[in-house]
Amino acid sequence: MVSKNVLVINSGSSSLKFAVIDSQSGDALISGLGECFGLPEAVIGWKFNGEKVQEAISDLENPHQAAVSRVVKLMEELGFCDSIVAVGHRIVHGGEKFDSAVRIDDEILKEIEDLSELAPLHNPAGAKGIRAAMSAYPSLPQFAVFDTAFHQTMPEKAFIYAVPYELYEKYGIRRYGAHGTSHYFVSREAAKMIGKKVEETSVITVHLGNGASVAVVENGICLDTSMGFTPLAGLMMGTRCGDIDPIVIEFLIKKGWAREDVFEMLNKKSGFLGISEITSDVRGIVEAMNEGNKGAKLAFDVFTYRVAKYIASYLAPLSSLDAIAFTGGIGENSLDVRREVIKNLSILGFEEDVAGNEAARFGASGQIAESKMLGAKAVVIPTNEEFVIAQQSVALL
Ligand code: ADP
Repeated sequence: MVSKNVLVINSGSSSLKFAVIDSQSGDALISGLGECFGLPEAVIGWKFNGEKVQEAISDLENPHQAAVSRVVKLMEELGFCDSIVAVGHRIVHGGEKFDSAVRIDDEILKEIEDLSELAPLHNPAGAKGIRAAMSAYPSLPQFAVFDTAFHQTMPEKAFIYAVPYELYEKYGIRRYGAHGTSHYFVSREAAKMIGKKVEETSVITVHLGNGASVAVVENGICLDTSMGFTPLAGLMMGTRCGDIDPIVIEFLIKKGWAREDVFEMLNKKSGFLGISEITSDVRGIVEAMNEGNKGAKLAFDVFTYRVAKYIASYLAPLSSLDAIAFTGGIGENSLDVRREVIKNLSILGFEEDVAGNEAARFGASGQIAESKMLGAKAVVIPTNEEFVIAQQSVALL
């Protein structure tokens, strides 16, 4: 069979990730990253056949366009062009409009731009990536896969905030969630791992990276998730605060803080970084904690406690639980975080499988704990959002 490869583009406000994905196997034939957009040191780099390459971005005024042009040239140089059947774009916010992937045309592109109000840092960047790819590849079909789409099945009781209902009707203020592509993939892989059909499986998916969220997925359908109107809500994260009493914002403004500084603090100076006053990186946190640093220990404790609390609360919508599935950079690698979360769930009968926890790292999946009481397993599953984007794009061809 001729391979169907998809060029996957994940355009951020100051970066652009790309990969060519074999839509059958999920393997990345090449992947790369353009970063520092907006700065003189903007670069684009990639890894191919074990060799790393990095180049300066030529057009500093239009870095997204320049990065996509370089990717297109690279595809020609490497002889990938004939095998690429589509371009799949990761788009952060699809609002209530998009509950699945779509083929992009001018109207869809405008709708993605119109949703920028809900994701001011991300959707405009996503749209820039789409425009650049459409002009570079006018004859290739382009698809948008939304981070929010998988959560659109949440019932009203899970997504409505307890504020006047007209704010939802008028402005769309509600929980949307994020990381949907990862929660979708991991819930399906978890079902496979425990040998059940996804339509008959209840999973709590725990995506722990720099951004972090938990979702509860029953019979393949998302019932609730921890991120909210924006990806600031829910768990504590690398530099984001997660759930917080909104009055703190007004309080700080009354104390003389500028509004922008408050939001900068909540987004970029909180979480692991804010509590530990050392780093946003869990590896550094665990190292400092083991050397006796109190701030690092506190950050670790707040994080693992909150993860466990979310997992426990997501038993509420379920009648049974088959699996808790950890993923993301921390979920896939940090046995210390997983061990502590499992310990915090001991009232539900979870007991760590020490050898399993130590083995499931660096890309390996596996079982790390079990609760005989619930008849549930805790597992680790490396996420693969690019594969989902490639699969969903090819499915729409
Ligand atoms: P993003 O949300 O930016 O995609 P990632 O999913 O890459 O983030 O996760 C980044 C987090 O994963 C960091 O906190 C990092 O410390 C953690 N991480 C990565 N590798 C390891 C490891 N070997 N052990 C512990 N934590 C790790």
